[in-house]
Amino acid sequence: MEIAFTAVFGLVIGSFLNVVGLRIPIGESITSPARSYCPSCKHTLGSLDLIPVLSYAFSLGKCRYCGKRISPLYPMIELLTGGVYGWIVYQHGWTFAGLLYGIVFSVLIVVCVSDWTYQLIPDAVMLPALVLVYIGFGLLQGHWLMHLIDLSSGAILITVIILASRGGMGEGDIRLNALIGLLLGWKLMLVSFVLACTQGSLLGGYLMLRKRATRKTAIPFGPYLAVAALITFFWADPLLFWYNRFLLGI
Ligand SMILES: [Zn+2]
Repeated sequence: MEIAFTAVFGLVIGSFLNVVGLRIPIGESITSPARSYCPSCKHTLGSLDLIPVLSYAFSLGKCRYCGKRISPLYPMIELLTGGVYGWIVYQHGWTFAGLLYGIVFSVLIVVCVSDWTYQLIPDAVMLPALVLVYIGFGLLQGHWLMHLIDLSSGAILITVIILASRGGMGEGDIRLNALIGLLLGWKLMLVSFVLACTQGSLLGGYLMLRKRATRKTAIPFGPYLAVAALITFFWADPLLFWYNRFLLGI
């Protein structure tokens, strides 16, 4: 019952996260206009259009007013948020820990939307999130120094890669991976990073095969980091096993 309620609540929050991810990077207010509008005809959406996922399904993925195709990213983000919220409550219940994880994953989802759409990870979201989540984990587990090490290791890893490769990843990825380090701890953060690179090269290779990308095409890395962190968080044990066995040979 609690899980189902939270999952439905997550669908609604998911559509809010879409709005945050789409508006913050271009400096628009997230409260005014209060209602979402169609990105192509700017028509303000009615109450019917605001029902998560279902409105997309009923309108067959098209705007009711101008008929333009609506990106499937939006309902996917809503479903993802609903699923993640439900899963967190399944594992942690309605606890302070569950609330903290809910906040971290909401931030990761906003990052997916804005990095995918604008190749930008907004500091206005990341910096407050880092401070808030650091204090939250500190209060929850009391290992202030350890959390600081986890956070820094995430940031240092990306910084080193940027310095070594001169490009590819941006400053936003540094803060994003710091948050992931905080969430997972430095060991699992490394696992998550390997997973993100694997996903990135698989999809990059696929796009190149389909001739939709070249070696030079900039592919935002934030969504890979975020999705990999999500997978690592929920499947930590089997992933650690795989990591030790095949990558480290233990
Ligand atoms: Zn429209």
